[in-house]
Amino acid sequence: KHFSDYPLSEEIVRALDSLGYETPTEVQTKVIPVALEKKDLVAKSQTGSGKTASYGIPLCELVDWNENKPQALILTPTRELALQVTEDITNIGRFKRIKATPLYGKHPFHIQKAELKQRTHMAVGTPGRVLDHIERGTLSLDRMAYLVIDEADEMLNMGFIEQVQSIIQALPSDRVTMLFSATFPEDVARLSHKYMNDPVEIEI
Ligand code: AMP
Repeated sequence: KHFSDYPLSEEIVRALDSLGYETPTEVQTKVIPVALEKKDLVAKSQTGSGKTASYGIPLCELVDWNENKPQALILTPTRELALQVTEDITNIGRFKRIKATPLYGKHPFHIQKAELKQRTHMAVGTPGRVLDHIERGTLSLDRMAYLVIDEADEMLNMGFIEQVQSIIQALPSDRVTMLFSATFPEDVARLSHKYMNDPVEIEI
């Protein structure tokens, strides 16, 4: 299997070529087709499996470059992961000129606010700071069509459950939701039951 076997535009396939991604990893083979069909999904996946690109590739494909408001929100437990995901998405979306903005604490709010005033297709951030932007009206949610909850188990372990729930409740209800987690303790399962629409379950 090659990335050009999926219904992906030439700009995306070319970016994957230039990154040296030749064949999809297992999680990518399973996630990409489901995500491209805009179905909710939960995937049990570890770091290092290529999980970032498994949602980054379909998101870069699906977002409309011409839309001025952000269309995808990716929640991560840590600043480091937010920055890594932003970089990966920027690389995958480079020939489509996709802009992703990282939002995390201990970085000046006003700089992030200024970035969000420019066209940005995706926001990638930690729950506390994302909620801060939502409450202060600097992150527009009305065009958010995709939500990714990455490392959900870590996020809940770190005590972010309430912020995550507040964020989800503020999003349009017709969005697509993808949840990634290495483990599925009760609180992660509850989150997916409560906020997802008959998700496809992917086990690697
Ligand atoms: P992740 O699990 O998202 O942290 O990705 C682990 C590493 O694998 C990252 O350095 C990616 O750049 C790399 N990677 C992701 N997908 C592929 C692929 N299809 N082929 C080669 N490397 C990849």
